[in-house]
Amino acid sequence: MVEYDAVVVGAGILGLSTAYHIKVRNPKANVLVVDKLGAAGQGSTAKSAAAFRCFFYSRTNFDLADSSVEFYKHIEKDLGFDLKMRWIGYLWLFDEERYGGMLPILKELAGRGFQYKEYEAEELAKKLDMRTNFAGDEEAQLMGLGNVYKGILIPKAGLLDVDSLVKFYESEFLRLGGKIQYNSEVTEIVVEPCKPLGMPGEPYFWQDAAVVGVKTIKGMVRAEKTIIAAGAWISQLLDPIGIECFIKAKKRQVFSVKAKTEALKRLLYIKEFTNAGFLPFTIFPKPSSYIRPAPEEEAFWLAYADDFPRAFKIEENPEPEENFYRYGLYQVTVKYFPQFIGCEPFSAFAGLYEINTVDGQPLIFEENGLMVVGGASGSGIMKADALGRIAAALYSGEEYAMLYGDRKFKISDLGLKNRHVEPEKLVI
Ligand SMILES: Cc1cc2nc3c(=O)[nH]c(=O)nc-3n(C[C@H](O)[C@H](O)[C@H](O)COP(=O)(O)OP(=O)(O)OC[C@H]3O[C@@H](n4cnc5c(N)ncnc54)[C@H](O)[C@@H]3O)c2cc1C
Repeated sequence: MVEYDAVVVGAGILGLSTAYHIKVRNPKANVLVVDKLGAAGQGSTAKSAAAFRCFFYSRTNFDLADSSVEFYKHIEKDLGFDLKMRWIGYLWLFDEERYGGMLPILKELAGRGFQYKEYEAEELAKKLDMRTNFAGDEEAQLMGLGNVYKGILIPKAGLLDVDSLVKFYESEFLRLGGKIQYNSEVTEIVVEPCKPLGMPGEPYFWQDAAVVGVKTIKGMVRAEKTIIAAGAWISQLLDPIGIECFIKAKKRQVFSVKAKTEALKRLLYIKEFTNAGFLPFTIFPKPSSYIRPAPEEEAFWLAYADDFPRAFKIEENPEPEENFYRYGLYQVTVKYFPQFIGCEPFSAFAGLYEINTVDGQPLIFEENGLMVVGGASGSGIMKADALGRIAAALYSGEEYAMLYGDRKFKISDLGLKNRHVEPEKLVI
């Protein structure tokens, strides 16, 4: 049986980026990626809204996203790999109370050199043909909708094509000699005693033991290092061997609505905010549901990351819920943008966020010969390159990783034992 240097479980964006960076750093390493699905990036990666922003309060989040986005720019510009990046910006709308709370944060970020542009409510109402004040609207008040007091445009933000990014990491990994096995579900992480004595049921508690690979439905894969990058399914694999990772799954849904009318087309192709020629990724004040332009479909994607009482639940094929649109997203959206009145979704999809329930930021750690890469908590696409580099540096036994653009990153900051991340104050 071949013994691999590393087996990576999960061909999502994090597993692929990790596998690619391990191969870049260790060209001779024999690295295998396994996934239960039939192709790369078909888990949560395929379900993402594919948006990115380089605007975070937490320095950790910022470094992870900004260095990754800079690398994606490099892939497009210098390596000639079209990721279809569109710099549409994020337009974050705030009510007066939330804006008051944000002001010190925005000022601090401005002091750190972050760029953003502020818009007044009247300007937004005019440019976007939207409602910004619900005075006298009993229904809106019943729903607790926030008035629009200000808008903040973040220019270093946009969309990319996730399939192309997946293809980049997959094809480059293969080109470097990496191997991938699809349709190979891992059923178990295999633990063996470091000094086997041939007793039934080994290892016993007095024996030193380590992870030696994984059992898949196609057979055993032995590896010097086992790396679990199984997204929302990580805890399914770790729980049976008693490793805690604080990652839980929560369903997220996206509904696509065609820009059928002239008013909706005007909104979709609005040119006033950025040079991209599209509506920015627009986040409502309260609740913070969002509109994501989908110009390739001449459509808008409507979504909201609901929390309480949405269950933490692992689902193989999460389904979008009709009522989530009908009584949720639709009702909120038409209040702010009456252009959407009468719109029915022409398609919808749902996926799982892999939420780190401690602080909502990614996790990379090693325990008993097993590495874990995950918990990107709904922003794994925009941070994937940095996370792959950090995981590859941990694989090589280093203390620091070098992110794209020569930024040094302390690996243990994303670990469990000596974790050091600033709280994120800009959560959508
Ligand atoms: C609706 C939605 C919108 C989102 N929008 C954005 C966004 O705009 N921007 C952004 O940056 N992020 C966004 N995200 C988050 C982003 O998609 C994830 O953070 C990212 O895809 C996580 O990648 P991953 O590789 O960790 O997980 P996955 O892509 O889920 O990969 C894990 C892989 O592991 C495999 N696997 C699981 N268990 C096993 C097993 N037992 N054996 C073998 N293989 C296994 C799965 O098949 C899967 O392919 C969004 C997510 C959702 C659901």
